[in-house]
Amino acid sequence: METTMTTDVETFRTEVRSFLSGALTDDLKLAAQQGFGISRDAGAKWHNLLFQQGWVAPNWPVEHGGTGWNDTQKHVFSEELALAGAPMLMPFGLGMVGPVIYSFGTDEQKARHLPGILDGSVWWCQGYSEPGSGSDLASLKTSAVRDGDDYVVNGQKIWTTNAHKADWIFALVRTDTECKPQQGISFLLIDMHSPGIEVRPIVSIDGLHHLNEVYFTDVRVPAGNRIGDENKGWTYAKYLLGHERTGIAGVASSRRAVDALRNFSRTATNSSGATLANDAGFTNRLNATSVKLEALAQTEARMLAALEAGGNPGDISSMLKIIGTEVQQSLETLRVEAVTYYALPFELAQIRGESNEPAPGPEFAVTAVSDYNFGRAASIYGGSNEIQRNVIAKAVLGL
Ligand SMILES: Cc1cc2nc3c(=O)[nH]c(=O)nc-3n(C[C@H](O)[C@H](O)[C@H](O)COP(=O)(O)OP(=O)(O)OC[C@H]3O[C@@H](n4cnc5c(N)ncnc54)[C@H](O)[C@@H]3O)c2cc1C
Repeated sequence: METTMTTDVETFRTEVRSFLSGALTDDLKLAAQQGFGISRDAGAKWHNLLFQQGWVAPNWPVEHGGTGWNDTQKHVFSEELALAGAPMLMPFGLGMVGPVIYSFGTDEQKARHLPGILDGSVWWCQGYSEPGSGSDLASLKTSAVRDGDDYVVNGQKIWTTNAHKADWIFALVRTDTECKPQQGISFLLIDMHSPGIEVRPIVSIDGLHHLNEVYFTDVRVPAGNRIGDENKGWTYAKYLLGHERTGIAGVASSRRAVDALRNFSRTATNSSGATLANDAGFTNRLNATSVKLEALAQTEARMLAALEAGGNPGDISSMLKIIGTEVQQSLETLRVEAVTYYALPFELAQIRGESNEPAPGPEFAVTAVSDYNFGRAASIYGGSNEIQRNVIAKAVLGL
């Protein structure tokens, strides 16, 4: 990988640390534990702090509000965010529809939508999956029929993360049924406050509400909200998925999880009374996961360098998604094993950070099972890992 050092790394790291130590207040650290379940207030507060600092969109081109950082700086920044326990930024605007809008949108669409995505005042959700159309996304049925200057949208989306907090949804809709499924799809930006949209909650196995069903009944959407050409939505959808899968690799947060496990293992003991740090069964697995994580980090750095040179993450991002989620799931498993019986209490108030009572065991144990349970979804969302393997076989290995 070639990286150009435009600034001294350690000076940059110190600058980031100093900002984080002032900006990242205890309430934000607590809110961070809820991942996607973070409240809109807390999520928007953190987003806006980064925006004010000019650091909210390191991967965007400078002309659209990016930082102009090189690979190393981006890497240091995401590492420091993770080490400090910062809340995640919702990926739907910054990491998904934002790049689609600045790459394929009209000037009017850019002017209307990019500022709200950058400053975090407008929240987005992703309307791709439908009941029966997940892996086989091109079979989606939600229809958009042209009527004058509008489309009239009817159908249902499912698993829509944070639809109940979002102002806008970017949705794949069927605009032609008389052709190959991929060729009859368009990409629409839809105001969630439009008459005819209904959001119904799905509470997931971690006890939190971040998933939803979204129903569209005769929803009128101006044709000017379509990205690019009619029936070419699949092209933009695939471009977006490349960005989505890269974000899912989660290198920095997995590094933080490795560090936390190492710290915990110095004092926690196994059933024979030895510390976990001296338990070969535990440390061997932690070390193996850590080595896999560092290999992933190198692959991600190579891909970021290609992106910086104007490339598209493309199908390589499928590899990052598979390995990244495998690493996350092993770390979640090791954490549940490390806290032993303290994994058993499943107290929602503790998990949501709403309890004044002390946790029954170490703080490290509070969300262990909730994270483990929700973490099973990581190898499903963003396109399941089985599908990513098919993509690699075909598009990367040419099989
Ligand atoms: C927590 C969570 C959040 C999500 N957030 C969103 C969101 O915000 N917006 C959105 O649009 N979607 C979202 N999704 C949906 C997600 O993208 C789909 O769940 C995913 O694409 C899989 O589709 P499916 O659930 O219909 O499973 P299916 O496609 O029915 O697959 C079921 C199983 O069969 C396997 N399988 C299917 N086809 C093949 C094949 N050809 N070869 C090998 N194995 C195969 C799959 O790997 C999987 O194990 C979310 C999902 C989860 C779990």
